[in-house]
Amino acid sequence: MPGWNLRSGVLIEVHVSEDEYWSLFNFVFSDACRKTNTYKFGLIKSICDQIYDLNEDPVQGYFLSYDKLFAKFTENYWNLVNKYGLKQMSYNGKSEYSKIELIIKEAVTGYDIPENIEFLSVNEKDRERLTRIVTTECKKCVIGALYHDFEGKLYAFDLCGNGIYLGSGAYRFISKYKMEIERLNYYSWARFLEKVNDDDALVRVLEKLDLSTPQRKDLSVYRELLYKEFREDTCFYCGKKLDKKVHVDHFIPWTFVKNDNLWNFVLACPRCNLRKSDSLVSQDYLIKIENRNTLLMEATGFTTKINIENEFAGYHTGLLKRMWEYAKMSGIRERSGFAEVSVK
Ligand SMILES: [Zn+2]
Repeated sequence: MPGWNLRSGVLIEVHVSEDEYWSLFNFVFSDACRKTNTYKFGLIKSICDQIYDLNEDPVQGYFLSYDKLFAKFTENYWNLVNKYGLKQMSYNGKSEYSKIELIIKEAVTGYDIPENIEFLSVNEKDRERLTRIVTTECKKCVIGALYHDFEGKLYAFDLCGNGIYLGSGAYRFISKYKMEIERLNYYSWARFLEKVNDDDALVRVLEKLDLSTPQRKDLSVYRELLYKEFREDTCFYCGKKLDKKVHVDHFIPWTFVKNDNLWNFVLACPRCNLRKSDSLVSQDYLIKIENRNTLLMEATGFTTKINIENEFAGYHTGLLKRMWEYAKMSGIRERSGFAEVSVK
């Protein structure tokens, strides 16, 4: 695979247009781009999953550590390999186990982990051990290959460093077209799997890929933090006093973000939460949530086990507005009729 053995690569980004990014992505998804396994799809998915968590470095770009990149990658593969038994590699036209699948299968027997359980149900020590091995393997073969496929216009990397740096153009492009890229990635991944596996129903493969997506976490810790420590005791949307049933809501819908971040959480009454569901609310609420986030970032001395600084890693003023616009553009509907009490 061209580029697989590169040790480092600089970012080649001189005003890359959106059309050019599309053509690079389309090339990578096409059969013209060489793939013996599905690692490239896995890597693209992991970048998309975490695009709103990246730390901006004014000189080098948007940083994503190898640890984070491959923790998600391992989680996705775990579910595909263990839960759904989908083979991820074809060699001379026959399906084979790729190195990552073998590593995962060995871990299941070696660490004595029950089969068919979710990755997040595996104990933390084993998860970390496995992620470390996958990281070492992936650094060896996929980072350089994908860098090469994108002609250096997606990210800069150094295998001796700690992670990849997305260029600001690439970062903006992926944030903007996240859902479209994810859909194309799934579709191309499913087509590849269809050829490799006996399972010939594309729809079922697509379903399984979607199911391998990280599941929503238990959000009670966020409820505790916002309700008890920051005394958010009214519904973010209608302003009514919250009683016993307090819902934690993803302000920008989870279906778009696919990640859990404190800056995107608000507390809501069950009625508003169910009404809002996977939709957006009026842009008027953006000021309210941005003000709330400013307070959270300035806060000190809380006791909940959440590291606020980590939670706010990729956050900056204006991010939620941009996400709102991108989510809307990707087809997420807007719902109105919440403001029974005026928005402050
Ligand atoms: Zn409400």
